[in-house]
Amino acid sequence: MGINMSFSSETKTELCELPLGETCCVTAEFYGMLLFCREFGERRIHVVTENEAVAKRFRDLCRSLFSIAPKIAQEKGRGLGKFNVSISGDDAERIFSFFGHDGTQVSTRVNYDIVLPQCCRRSFLRGAYLTGGSVTDPNSGYHLEIATSLFNLSNDAADVMASLGLSPKHAKRGGKNIVYFKSSEEIEDFLNNIGATSSAFRLMEVKVMKDVRNRANRLSNCDSFNISRSINAGVEQAEQIRRTLDKKGKAHFPQELRELVLLRVENPEASLRELGEMLEKPLSKSGVSHKLRRIMEYTE
Ligand SMILES: [Zn+2]
Repeated sequence: MGINMSFSSETKTELCELPLGETCCVTAEFYGMLLFCREFGERRIHVVTENEAVAKRFRDLCRSLFSIAPKIAQEKGRGLGKFNVSISGDDAERIFSFFGHDGTQVSTRVNYDIVLPQCCRRSFLRGAYLTGGSVTDPNSGYHLEIATSLFNLSNDAADVMASLGLSPKHAKRGGKNIVYFKSSEEIEDFLNNIGATSSAFRLMEVKVMKDVRNRANRLSNCDSFNISRSINAGVEQAEQIRRTLDKKGKAHFPQELRELVLLRVENPEASLRELGEMLEKPLSKSGVSHKLRRIMEYTE
């Protein structure tokens, strides 16, 4: 996998390297690609993709099922041109009607006969994801979606997912109907279902690393918060003791507390442990704490 490849491209490249498998699944995967590509009509089928592997997968599936090998054309232009695959005329009509569609249908629905076996439902979703799907890099967030301009088709895809125990959400965005997943566990589940197991593993690996990093950050923020809080407490104690000393003198404090009284005033930022070590007869942290509480009872 290239360093500059997006996570989305990585998942697709992985899927395109899977063996073609049983004819039932090859058919279902190709059907998924068709329904979610740029155009699936009886006179024209048109796939546009940023990923060359997806274009090749489409061509290979088409060749193995229909002995048609459409040409792949890369768009010219700035940067990386997208890959186009198109089929027209009788070839398009043959494929269109093979899947049980005809030009009189008002809206495009999933032909459920093609996706009855569970293996085929997974393959179908793989195909749909290859042409209509994308996933966010787990380092920046968790979002996987399959988009289509066709409302009923989007609902049907969600039903196929639901039949595999997945629970996608729906949204509309810029004229597109989106079926999506928003949690790392659901995305992992979906990727595993469609066969992108290494990508699913990578996603969870990134998530674990992120969680560890977040926890470490929280802990260190918490530490420095506690340290500054205890420094503030020490400064306040020192001021309060100094006020009492100014008014009432050293003799106001019992003899056995006086050494610590002076140490605190002179070392307002010292921790309890440090104060304990400064005493002529060193005291533990809790011993210092106990004595300081008594000292504070003599202040006002
Ligand atoms: Zn199958």
